Amino acid sequence: MNRKALDELKQRIPLLDYVQAHGWQQARPIGFGRILGLCPLHTDHKPSFLVDPNKNLFFCYGCRRGGDVIRFAELYHQVEFPQAVALLLEWCGLAPLLDQVTDFYRIQLFRHGDAVSYLHDRGLRSPEVIDHMRIGYAPGRCLRGWLTQLGYPTSVLRHAGLLNAIGNDAFTHRVVFPLEGNLYGRSVRNSSPHLFLPGSKGGLYAGEQVRRAPEVILVEGLFDYAVLWQAGFRNVTCSMGSHLNARQFQQLCDGPRTVYLAFDSDANQSGQQAAQWMSRRLWAQGVTARRVSLPDADDPNSFFVQGGDADQFQRLLEAAHP
Ligand SMILES: [Zn+2]
Repeated sequence: MNRKALDELKQRIPLLDYVQAHGWQQARPIGFGRILGLCPLHTDHKPSFLVDPNKNLFFCYGCRRGGDVIRFAELYHQVEFPQAVALLLEWCGLAPLLDQVTDFYRIQLFRHGDAVSYLHDRGLRSPEVIDHMRIGYAPGRCLRGWLTQLGYPTSVLRHAGLLNAIGNDAFTHRVVFPLEGNLYGRSVRNSSPHLFLPGSKGGLYAGEQVRRAPEVILVEGLFDYAVLWQAGFRNVTCSMGSHLNARQFQQLCDGPRTVYLAFDSDANQSGQQAAQWMSRRLWAQGVTARRVSLPDADDPNSFFVQGGDADQFQRLLEAAHP
């Protein structure tokens, strides 16, 4: 990892937070904001471990070791530098690494006309929505080289799921959407269309933006979200599938609101059944739920792609029933 990325990682993790999260307790302040406690790195009987939260550094007067949060992670977990960095990235949710990956893929998008025309075919036609969702493109065979050049160890990238088992880019020929602590890749060639990084898909998409909205439209897919946002509906959120994880469900129930369930209208009724089940669960939590009936075999995305407009969708919302 290059110096800038390492500095960013260190700034993101206050040393005091990190040592406290690993069980360290301060014994007393010693001025200038510095604090002393028992050393977690050796068997300590009187407080000799000093943390300076302003400088983000530690020093132990007993074992005479000190340094920054990466040095602490090396000593505490007894690992080499790359593993310490990997542990810290994991501890802070991989966010700095995924931010860099997102930026890289966003640059690639405008170098690949086929990816832009794929988005166009899926109804994403305004630069604003591509910008707003920070959509990028993974051509494959280039992320590894770039991140390695920045100094990220291959082990970190494989652990994050950005590289596959044999060390190649995991995301290939995919448009990529950054999520909370994850990435979603959609194949532009349609074989195995969906790919997430290992781990949770995170909370509701753009959940923070709808947190205070009295009315929320919930959709299954990010392309549904995109066309609705583009049509001017800003109170949209997405669960990335018709099954909500516990955190997503909790987010919907954290205040009084009406949730419009705009799930897919599937020929086999699976979207409708998921919406019905979700509606019952929401009512049971005291949340008003309404199911939006889309024309047969439509999802919000295809509804707009086939010429539906904001007024027509608004009428579907008004006609939604519990
Ligand atoms: Zn010590």
